[in-house]
Amino acid sequence: MAAYLELYHRSELKGRVEAAKSLLESCPVCPHCCGINRLEGEIGKCRTSSEAMVSSYGPHFGEESPLVGKQGSGTIFFTNCNLRCIFCQNYSISQLGEGEKVSKEELAYMMLSLQAQGCHNINLVSPTHVVSPILEALEIAIESGLHLPLIYNSGGYDSLETLKMLNGVIDIYMPDMKYSDEEIAKEFSGIGNYPSINKAAVKEMHHQVGDLEINKEGIAQRGLLVRHLVLPNGLAGTKEVVDFLAKEISPHTYVNIMDQYHPCYKASQVPSLARRISPAEFQEAAELAYQAGLSRLDRARSLILRFQR
Ligand code: SF4
Repeated sequence: MAAYLELYHRSELKGRVEAAKSLLESCPVCPHCCGINRLEGEIGKCRTSSEAMVSSYGPHFGEESPLVGKQGSGTIFFTNCNLRCIFCQNYSISQLGEGEKVSKEELAYMMLSLQAQGCHNINLVSPTHVVSPILEALEIAIESGLHLPLIYNSGGYDSLETLKMLNGVIDIYMPDMKYSDEEIAKEFSGIGNYPSINKAAVKEMHHQVGDLEINKEGIAQRGLLVRHLVLPNGLAGTKEVVDFLAKEISPHTYVNIMDQYHPCYKASQVPSLARRISPAEFQEAAELAYQAGLSRLDRARSLILRFQR
């Protein structure tokens, strides 16, 4: 059973919905703590008022296999982001504002529609800045029968206070761990404290949901799944990320070491980011993860074999 159903039946979800909405009066929803009144239309660093914007929604078959199964992961792509990654692979949505405002009823309809299409989960992509409208929509969707696991698929720059408010609401946390070096985080995402905030957020997420649990059909039900995109020239700080996960989170952490980096958005203007990673760079990253003691690596074994051919 999805975690939020228990909260709902204990009549505790409404309190979370109200708490999240009241935060918008002086927004501290993410670590930027802009302090602006989003209920009155003021706009902070995420460029988003109190209503969510959605770029697209539908079954997605490109996610990790425990999320996709046979019927797909039910993704909802939210417009805008609290990060400013100059290499963002979805920059037209996250940085250029592609998408439309949706009401809480429309957002609830999207969740129910994804469930009706047979998706295995509701995958909220870039949810950090729109937690309040998501909770409002969730309450409506539950009343119409929503029961799928909820995935919080974020860039990993999440505040502890907001995550604590989501305890018992989210079934699967899927944060990025983008960098381990502050200078690099500042240069490429505009946020120097990303590494420390990110590590604290991942700890809180794991504390809430534990290691990833996968059922007999191979579908993830609950837990933590971490994504780490390998950047050229060692810029993602893979060794520190995988050591942190193995030692301070769990050696059973399910990790997707991702090889699909390509220079998007403004990355081609930065010499160190202006190329794809080499097979050797990916292999080194995957081996660092194994050496750290992580054994649940999404697709890594087959990718290493592919590179060795
Ligand atoms: S959610 Fe948006 S407005 Fe609120 S603190 Fe973060 S960036 Fe600022």
